[in-house]
Amino acid sequence: MSWDFETDPEFQAQLEWVEDFVRTEVEPLDRLIEHAWDVTDPKRNELIRPLQQQVRERNLWACHLTPALGGRGYGQLKLALLNEILGRTHSGPVVFGCQAPDSGNAEVLAHFGSADLKKRYMEPLIDGDIMSAYSMTEPAGGSDPTGFITRAVRDGDEYVINGEKWFSSHARFATFLIVMAVTDPEAEPHKRASMFLVPIDTPGVEIVRNVGVSGHEDHEATHAYMRYTDVRIPAGNRLGDESQGFEVAQTRLGGGRIHHAMRTVGLVKASLDMMLERAVSRHTRGQRLADLQMVQAMIAESWIQLQQFRLLVLQTAWKIDKYNDYKRVLVDISAVKAAMPKVLLDVTSRAAQIHGSLGISTELPFGRWIMESYHMGLADGATELHLQTVAKQLLRTATPAPGLFPTRHLPALEAAAQAKYAHLDLATLP
Ligand SMILES: Cc1cc2nc3c(=O)[nH]c(=O)nc-3n(C[C@H](O)[C@H](O)[C@H](O)COP(=O)(O)OP(=O)(O)OC[C@H]3O[C@@H](n4cnc5c(N)ncnc54)[C@H](O)[C@@H]3O)c2cc1C
Repeated sequence: MSWDFETDPEFQAQLEWVEDFVRTEVEPLDRLIEHAWDVTDPKRNELIRPLQQQVRERNLWACHLTPALGGRGYGQLKLALLNEILGRTHSGPVVFGCQAPDSGNAEVLAHFGSADLKKRYMEPLIDGDIMSAYSMTEPAGGSDPTGFITRAVRDGDEYVINGEKWFSSHARFATFLIVMAVTDPEAEPHKRASMFLVPIDTPGVEIVRNVGVSGHEDHEATHAYMRYTDVRIPAGNRLGDESQGFEVAQTRLGGGRIHHAMRTVGLVKASLDMMLERAVSRHTRGQRLADLQMVQAMIAESWIQLQQFRLLVLQTAWKIDKYNDYKRVLVDISAVKAAMPKVLLDVTSRAAQIHGSLGISTELPFGRWIMESYHMGLADGATELHLQTVAKQLLRTATPAPGLFPTRHLPALEAAAQAKYAHLDLATLP
């Protein structure tokens, strides 16, 4: 099945190269490398670095970045088309230098880091020489960051951080973490926290354990349970002003959420492609699965859901390019984020069903992708919170009905229409 979404011929040629490169070079890599984020793994470097070089030569390296940071300035719409292809793979984003959480962390450093932090951390991060982690969620609370208790206390030219975080993805491979900590517990809830860059080798930084998630059994457990005990960092490692932590977090999450969605389009498309192949390959009682109406319904519903989701993602990407202001598209991004787990779960579940027991075996990826849909319903904010954001925004523009009945109550509309044309004798008109 091919997409029919035109872009300019030059970028289209790039996409065709990426499609071929991902299929022939990157997808096989997924079967060989346990963790593409581990820059200390010699096998990983031997396999990935030459591919990264090819991407650089095609001018496609880290192309989510603005030209000021060495990116191509493609804009989100083009990135959407590119990420749809990368989404089929585990290593693809690393090969193209746009993997989470590093892409978002680089964005934070670009906006809020000092010149020194940019030189020491952002540049090697963008070059793919080091990795990073984002340490916000706490065992004490995830969805409600106003409940965070990790503290950062100013002491002369330093801050001292104490507390626990978890689900700090890829911390085991990271050179530094971006950590949210409460600096003023008495302030109003969204002014309590600040953001800090904490090098992983700072005394007092400890990985208590690496937590695995269902569906990623074939990759090392990578979601770190972190403990920070009297961790001293220079005051210059604060990112943004004191109390600006929530604002910094929004800068980071806006882009990340839409990039996950772009890649999810790729996964859903892969599920649908596999569903189609199976439907025309497998026979039962003398006919193909494809000839059974209930199977046809599964295929049709999957295609419709995928198209709806893809258009929502592309329209949101277009709006980000148009307004160049994440605050103006927060609702769109939340809508995409809330739709993403459902479309992946629905389509992948149908694909698994059509493949019979093979579909739920570990010899096909559907089980992992079904669990992936649950990851997506949690990482970067639970679905329910994003639904709330959408609903609240829509409700803000709604006004109560003027009287007892809705504005479009038909008897009232009819009475108003009669009154409007009272000067005509409607019954006698031909
Ligand atoms: C694969 C993966 C990677 C992650 N990576 C990172 C990372 O790198 N860094 C990081 O800091 N965090 C990371 N997280 C953590 C993620 O951000 C949190 O899991 C998420 O914010 C939810 O927090 P929680 O798990 O504490 O759930 P809780 O806040 O306890 O919520 C549990 C459930 O309660 C319901 N709920 C909560 N609040 C509301 C509400 N207001 N209205 C209605 N229902 C509600 C929802 O169903 C929600 O799923 C990752 C998570 C996953 C799964």
